[in-house]
Amino acid sequence: MTDDGVPVHIIGAGPGGLATAAALHERGISTVVLEKSPSVGASWRAHYDRLRLHTTRRWSALPGLPIPRSYGRWVSRDDFVRYLESYTEHHAIEVATGVEVDSVERDGTDWVLHANGGRRLTTPVAVVATGYNHTAHLPPWPGRDGFEGELLHASRYRNARPYAGKDVLVAGVGNTGAEIAADLAEGGAARVRLAVRTVPHIVRRSTLGWPAQANGILCRRLPTRIVDRLAARMAKLAVPDLSDRGLPRPETGLYTRARQGAIPVQDVGLIAAVRKGAVEPVAAVESFDGAKIQLADGSSAAPDVVIAATGYEQGLEDLVGGLGVLDDAGRPLVHGARTHPDAPGLHFIGYTNPLSGMLRELSLDAHRIAKSVAKVTA
Ligand SMILES: Cc1cc2nc3c(=O)[nH]c(=O)nc-3n(C[C@H](O)[C@H](O)[C@H](O)COP(=O)(O)OP(=O)(O)OC[C@H]3O[C@@H](n4cnc5c(N)ncnc54)[C@H](O)[C@@H]3O)c2cc1C
Repeated sequence: MTDDGVPVHIIGAGPGGLATAAALHERGISTVVLEKSPSVGASWRAHYDRLRLHTTRRWSALPGLPIPRSYGRWVSRDDFVRYLESYTEHHAIEVATGVEVDSVERDGTDWVLHANGGRRLTTPVAVVATGYNHTAHLPPWPGRDGFEGELLHASRYRNARPYAGKDVLVAGVGNTGAEIAADLAEGGAARVRLAVRTVPHIVRRSTLGWPAQANGILCRRLPTRIVDRLAARMAKLAVPDLSDRGLPRPETGLYTRARQGAIPVQDVGLIAAVRKGAVEPVAAVESFDGAKIQLADGSSAAPDVVIAATGYEQGLEDLVGGLGVLDDAGRPLVHGARTHPDAPGLHFIGYTNPLSGMLRELSLDAHRIAKSVAKVTA
């Protein structure tokens, strides 16, 4: 308990919220996790079927419970959901499901969480863990709403079955777009184009058993230009030149790009598919015109389906937008152990996207938050 006997309220029962609850329990502080969905790990339950963690089993485990060895090195979506369920049970985390927090407000020294059903929950310490990938982002492409084909965001993609025999254009080449394009090509789509605005850095998930994530962890303390140079050398050794297929190597360094928020694409089938011509990189989508799509190089396409792998927004404006704790991009100005000077006792977890792996960082931040809360409430 906090010193006045009220549990810490955590918003969101994904890996970030659950990790924070476990870390607080370890310090004798009780929690209640408020989750809008019917169960924990809602984001993971909704991901596409073939998804496996890109980070290793060991470096994806949350505080206080390893991921079972039997789940393998690259844990599948379903096994990760199973892990989150057993994690909740193992740490006896109290999760109130079906509770959606709409806004957070200051009331004296307390935080008031307004939730669905007119609920009003008061707590001295609140942790926001509603997810980096909270709200699907669909660009406002001109003519988009009049598209005569099918347009969906990647968050609604499950597997290639509905697209067998169809001409599909995937817009956006982050990890999700790259993997969906490969999945479609392997799953029988008639044609798969991948619309690329900025060519990505592509890395092997592991090279001779050495995971890319290990590089991400090691590199964090090195100067950007050195990492950029090392990464370029590594890419030349491990990743074939795909320029003639429309995917040249990027001119900006890998770490420079990562610091701007663009993490590299881990290859789980894209390289082979592009080399075979099963996935065709094309220019970025500019606009829609009836059945046609205008691409940035002046060419056009008329696919049956467009899958927009165009990322997510954090959706924090409604929740905490009035508190002065967000930057211009809608991300928290401070996260982890630190709280904003105008918002003591209000923590954020999970709003960065580091090269070292988000799950690993969530675990570290959960411990930091617990330590800071324990200090304040001691
Ligand atoms: C496709 C994909 C693959 C990824 N793979 C990896 C990987 O391999 N390794 C890695 O380290 N990271 C990976 N990540 C990044 C990250 O680890 C995950 O997104 C992870 O789920 C983040 O955990 P979270 O708890 O911050 O957010 P989420 O898992 O999104 O959990 C947020 C929770 O909050 C709930 N919620 C939201 N709003 C409210 C509200 N207002 N009130 C109540 N509840 C609310 C949601 O229902 C959800 O359960 C991946 C991300 C994606 C999208």
